[in-house]
Amino acid sequence: MSRIAYVNGRYVPMRNAVVHVEDRGYQFGDGVYEVCEVRGGELIDRRRHLARLKRSLELRIRMPMTEAALGVVLREVIARNRIGYGTVYMQITRGVARRDHAFPTPEVRPSLVVTARSLQRTRNETLAARGIAVVSVPDNRWGRVDIKSIGLLPNVLARQTAIEKGAREAWLIAKDGTVTEGASSNAWIVTSAGNVVTHPADRAILRGITRMVLFETLKARGLAVEERPFTLEEARNAREAFLTSASQTVMPVVSIDGRPVGDGKPGPVATALRREFHRFAERG
Ligand code: PLP
Repeated sequence: MSRIAYVNGRYVPMRNAVVHVEDRGYQFGDGVYEVCEVRGGELIDRRRHLARLKRSLELRIRMPMTEAALGVVLREVIARNRIGYGTVYMQITRGVARRDHAFPTPEVRPSLVVTARSLQRTRNETLAARGIAVVSVPDNRWGRVDIKSIGLLPNVLARQTAIEKGAREAWLIAKDGTVTEGASSNAWIVTSAGNVVTHPADRAILRGITRMVLFETLKARGLAVEERPFTLEEARNAREAFLTSASQTVMPVVSIDGRPVGDGKPGPVATALRREFHRFAERG
């Protein structure tokens, strides 16, 4: 079965899913995106993802359609691709215009692309049962990474470094030695006192939707959360480490730069949070 994408008003087979060469997303990375988990064929946390999308559009890119209409497109792409478990991706760019750095005048119609893909549930569960390795790389991104921009070159290079070193994710290290987040995930540790720590939601990280939902999960378990930066050194000596993202939910981290975290196995806190996460996430 050929995969189907939504491109600017049409549902098309992937091989015909093309954008204009002067789309500003292609030329400048002038666009934003969202990724939602799909589980049991249903969107997870759509409302929160669309709220963040709107926030990212503070770049003065117009929403191409109403939120309700976008919800319909998302569900249609999920259905047409028969996604039971996977992700749906949406991208909005400033649109097509003759190449010039400044915004087009008059304003042009924003471009919208939606794609979806299946993920292998058992593969993800096996990964979570083993835990993953991360490596540290300098965080050299721009100053507004709270905007989910499609300009991801530093993230791409960080992930490639991780893969080449036999790890699955890169943790990005600010100039002061603190861990901001992962290349495509938020970073967490559990201290020896049992406190769960993650970077505050300022302009240095993306406000992960999974991160937000996990706060509720933690609260329900009576676990204390500290929203503060932590150093790489602190992470290396932590009892547990894990990361969060829509596609991986809660993923235990068992080594950092080749050194085991705790006993080198997924910790009980991360494992419990992964198990309970979907009780707190919204469906549909
Ligand atoms: N941080 C970055 C840089 C990301 O790209 C992502 C997800 O893609 C996240 C954090 C996690 O965000 P969410 O939980 O909304 O997927």
